[in-house]
Amino acid sequence: MPDSTKTLPDTSSTTAKTSVYENVIRQFSRAADLIGLVDNVRKILATPVNEITVHFPARMDDGRVEMFTGYRVQHNNALGPFKGGLRFHPDTDIDEVKALATWMTWKSAIADIPFGGGKGGVCIDPFKYSKTELERITRRFTYALGQNIGPEYDIPAPDVNTNGQVMAWILDTYLTSVQPQERGRCLHVVTGKPVGLGGSVGREKATGQGVVYCIEEWAKGKSVDLAKTSYFVQGFGNVGSWAARLMDQHGARLVAVEDVTGAIANPDGLDAEDLARYAKQNGGVYGYQKASAIDHETFLATEADIFIPSALENQITGKTASALRCKLVAEGANGPTDPFGDILLRKAGIDVLPDILANSGGVIVSYFEWLQNKRSEYWDLEEVDAKLYKKITAAYRRVRSAAQELDVDWRTAAYVVALRRLERCYVERGIFP
Ligand code: GLU
Repeated sequence: MPDSTKTLPDTSSTTAKTSVYENVIRQFSRAADLIGLVDNVRKILATPVNEITVHFPARMDDGRVEMFTGYRVQHNNALGPFKGGLRFHPDTDIDEVKALATWMTWKSAIADIPFGGGKGGVCIDPFKYSKTELERITRRFTYALGQNIGPEYDIPAPDVNTNGQVMAWILDTYLTSVQPQERGRCLHVVTGKPVGLGGSVGREKATGQGVVYCIEEWAKGKSVDLAKTSYFVQGFGNVGSWAARLMDQHGARLVAVEDVTGAIANPDGLDAEDLARYAKQNGGVYGYQKASAIDHETFLATEADIFIPSALENQITGKTASALRCKLVAEGANGPTDPFGDILLRKAGIDVLPDILANSGGVIVSYFEWLQNKRSEYWDLEEVDAKLYKKITAAYRRVRSAAQELDVDWRTAAYVVALRRLERCYVERGIFP
């Protein structure tokens, strides 16, 4: 391992604060130690292949020009092209993007899809800009990335505060750099596109759908009737709101929701569909009339069976994890639990379906979209959902077997599945020269 492992905070205190990339390295080290990962492979996987930072101008509606900073980190492409989302967030920095890119490598390996890991972002608060400004920012960012993305090289997708519209702007801008004869063959430079221009049906709900498929498997294993469970959700964007709507279809009771605007609760149950409509119209869940406002501490201590964090990193930490009363944490977000939070969840006997398994539905259906574009096909929703179910439940079983074999928590088991897959690839192909 590089020296970064030596600078990690002391684990004897579960309240130390870590950066997200330190979290990744710590998680990685735990699993690599456990399986005695081949040393050369360990060195390679501990460092991203490329870290790209771009500074670029974009014109505002009033004619001024503002400078922006964007990132694309390409962690690993041993199993296939770099793959992963792009986010717009004021806290996005290179450390975060490195962590997110690394998680994508593990995610694709666990799901057994032929992709590596990448991630990008622009450090902006997108709510401060008009739609036309966001379009120009997106297009200039794409232009600045140039040939660092490509349909067979590095394929962005939506992430926090980005969506199909942003992907459409990226595609359209990227195509200007491609010979006219090639353009029809480049639709797969991004996934998560609107269905009208080559997106896949089922991609928008795919991450939430994958989370719920994993929760279904967990419930089967524990002989839990989901119709009798209650749950609460943090983040009510694409992932959280879809997970909630799909949990509702099982008859589970949504009792609390938190997003950037605040937290709300109703112990009798919230209608996820209605709340999703409200949140879309009002920019968040706060103020929803069929619920009462609660504070963050009360939200975390919600009495419910399942917690679905679907917002940002480092929410369940050494400081907050002991507040949780649930039986299961199903991670819709990337990195919502830090290593100290993990220790406390283990001590409390709370099950964790880790992000790199539970939220892999998004990248799995991105893979299906990529394949459909390459083959000039359109699959229907039934086919997409059935294939997603097959892939993610197979991944679930691989992680469960590793957890049983090594008697470890599911996050470590998920890492073991990913690392063994990558180790096999490197050992078989060798390292040039
Ligand atoms: N942003 C999503 C994730 O974190 C999806 C990535 C993709 O579809 O490439 O998994």
